[in-house]
Amino acid sequence: KTMGLNEIREKYLEFFESKDHLRKQSAPLVPINDNSLLLINSGMAPLKPYFTGDEIPPSKRMTTCQKCIRTPDIDNVGKTARHGTFFEMLGNFSFGDYFKEEAIKWAWEFVTEVMEIPEDKMYVSIYEEDDEAYDIWHKIVGLAPDRIVRLGKADNFWEHGLGPCGPCSEIYFDRGEDHGCGNPDCAVGCECDRYIEFWNLVFTQYDKDGEGNYHPLANPNIDTGMGLERMATIMQDVGTIFEVDTIRHVLDTVCGLAGIQYKDDVKNDISIRVITDHIRSVSFMIGDGVLPSNEGRGYVLRRLLRRAARHGKLLGIEGTFLSQLSREVKKTSGEAYPELVEKEETIAKIIRLEEEKFQETIDQGLMILEEEMEKLKKEEKDILSGETAFRLYDTFGFPLDLTRDILEESGMDVDEDTFHEEMKKQKERARKARSDKDNNAWGDDLFTHLTEDTLTEFVGYQTLEATGKI
Ligand code: ATP
Ligand code: MG
Ligand code: MG
Ligand code: MG
Repeated sequence: KTMGLNEIREKYLEFFESKDHLRKQSAPLVPINDNSLLLINSGMAPLKPYFTGDEIPPSKRMTTCQKCIRTPDIDNVGKTARHGTFFEMLGNFSFGDYFKEEAIKWAWEFVTEVMEIPEDKMYVSIYEEDDEAYDIWHKIVGLAPDRIVRLGKADNFWEHGLGPCGPCSEIYFDRGEDHGCGNPDCAVGCECDRYIEFWNLVFTQYDKDGEGNYHPLANPNIDTGMGLERMATIMQDVGTIFEVDTIRHVLDTVCGLAGIQYKDDVKNDISIRVITDHIRSVSFMIGDGVLPSNEGRGYVLRRLLRRAARHGKLLGIEGTFLSQLSREVKKTSGEAYPELVEKEETIAKIIRLEEEKFQETIDQGLMILEEEMEKLKKEEKDILSGETAFRLYDTFGFPLDLTRDILEESGMDVDEDTFHEEMKKQKERARKARSDKDNNAWGDDLFTHLTEDTLTEFVGYQTLEATGKI
């Protein structure tokens, strides 16, 4: 059965509405009243106060499709079939209401009866000690024992420090040998894209104390997360999440702008997918009020945008192109996310200004970096100095991870410690300059200051170093 991405989203939300769940619109990507997180990275993240009991949920059962950003996945983007920095997570949640049996039964009902995925294509994992989950999958759902894989704590137990935690159970789809890594021991849990994980059911049933004891919660919770793009990849039988109906429009536009064919060249394909992913992240982030800056979320945005711009260079795209692409994102996702429609012009404008600024220096910066890499090669070294990386950052606008990306492609790395020292020194210089009353901070280039300073303050978050998110 093929089904469009937008249709799958609707089917899921409708299904859980039919199980008495309250449907809620996605929360913004910028967390509200939560300093522990830079950007929302799961369906449960914006609902945390309902899980901790700090707030009373409007319903004990809820269902959402949540916009998510996961920058820690950035190195996988374009390379695996299943990772984006942006994706949508469908979820159903129980706040002390139903528990494991309903969560598992409904998940199975949805995938086999609504999505009509053949049972013999699926596997599930459970936490190795969770016999309760085993019994539900085997005795109640009727899954054969060889379809149920027991995995350890690292894979199938959710805990973040102390407090509520618990085992989870994940559902996988076997895409067949063609998508596998070919290792004889390739199986569920393998990092390759054959057994693609698409749904995680978390059973929050314990409270962990300071001594490492797990106390059963009186009212355990359910938190599930299903990747919408992954489900669409399965339903449409395409190679990667970037080839599903909606996202494919963006990908095709990238190819059109570059004047190349998808699937012609493996390296180009990675760049095409990176751009396709990053423009989605960038568009949605700006749609939720994030602006480019040198700190916090604004810097995440800037890094993604500049990384996309550089991959555009690799594909031979001349000039700025990203704002045009953001309009494609709007065309395909605007119905589900009206903020993309409402803010279309703002999104395009901010992207264009940011991209134009980087265009002025990217070629020069790339040239310098290439020269330095040549030098390193001649000297048989493979670590770029932190000073050079800092100059690329400070003068040419190269985020550190962009420099690192480029170095890694040639098996090189960068001296990060020195980079950060240089950064610290520069911040001290800036602080001193700011305290100087006569300092003419609004010199010639007003807009630079508008984006760099005013907007940074507007965004006003903790620094990246403080959050350790980078
Ligand atoms: P993986 O092991 O493939 O990296 P995960 O275990 O990190 O996935 P979870 O944290 O369990 O993922 O998130 C729940 C679901 O969200 C996943 O089962 C998947 O469908 C989806 N998902 C997670 N990360 C991504 C991503 N980077 N891009 C697209 N979908 C994702
Ligand atoms: Mg992951
Ligand atoms: Mg996983
Ligand atoms: Mg998982």
